[in-house]
Amino acid sequence: MQSYTINKPISFSGVGLHSGVNTNITLKPAPINSGIFFNRIDQKIIIPAQWDNVISTKFSTNLGKENTEVKTVEHLLSALAGLHINNCEICIDNIEVPILDGSSKIFVEEIQKIGLSNQNDNQNILEIIKPVKFECDYGYAELLPNKNDQEGLNINLESFFDGKYEDQDIKVQNLNGNYVDSISKARTFGFFHEIEYLKSQNLIKGGSLDNAIVIKDRKPLNKEGLRYENELMRHKVLDVVGDLYLSGYPIVGTYKGFKTGHYITNNLLRELFKSEENYLIHQIH
Ligand SMILES: [Zn+2]
Repeated sequence: MQSYTINKPISFSGVGLHSGVNTNITLKPAPINSGIFFNRIDQKIIIPAQWDNVISTKFSTNLGKENTEVKTVEHLLSALAGLHINNCEICIDNIEVPILDGSSKIFVEEIQKIGLSNQNDNQNILEIIKPVKFECDYGYAELLPNKNDQEGLNINLESFFDGKYEDQDIKVQNLNGNYVDSISKARTFGFFHEIEYLKSQNLIKGGSLDNAIVIKDRKPLNKEGLRYENELMRHKVLDVVGDLYLSGYPIVGTYKGFKTGHYITNNLLRELFKSEENYLIHQIH
């Protein structure tokens, strides 16, 4: 696979879902082998988008270094992964990536408008060679080698919304080909009765029906309804794609999970990188 950056700088502004602060970000083209990295321009701190820079996973994936944080990186990283961009500098002037419409649609569409730059170099992929699993008291996730007839990243999730919404399973095969249409538009979601708890935890200060689906009595409160019948599960796939991109590579393999979230996926990456026998980093053409 070719190596890509973006054609020219592109900016986004908006409120952060959890912090409620207004933030400006500018994505800039980056040279070959620079990877994806955040530049907190107000603090002059560079934070590579890497699994071992994750400092918390409570309701979002948050990176940190030297007491400086960038919160809620998963939707932007999901957009970059879905578009196969592997070199990009993300300049950010505050603590949290704007939530925009709650999905990665706006990032994807605006980046597609300016276009990608083919960097005349091959990008490495990470292929799963041995199964790895992370399990906690409520759920699990595993990364498995692809079967012979499978290509790219395959995601297979089982849900359990415990009467709050109808349970749905989702199976996405070779996600690389259908990210933009099938996944990027799926918005983040929450349950009405949990809103007071989240607010008491100093979370979702920037949340509204403009950037999240809110489910009450198993139905969305949002006037426009859902963008896909199984939008909640598709958003979980969107999150998995973003969280897995913190591996630093596009993954070739199968991700399988039950009640997955940022905590489970980050710990799964930590398991993966415990042994070099679990994976192979190489180029595919
Ligand atoms: Zn999300």
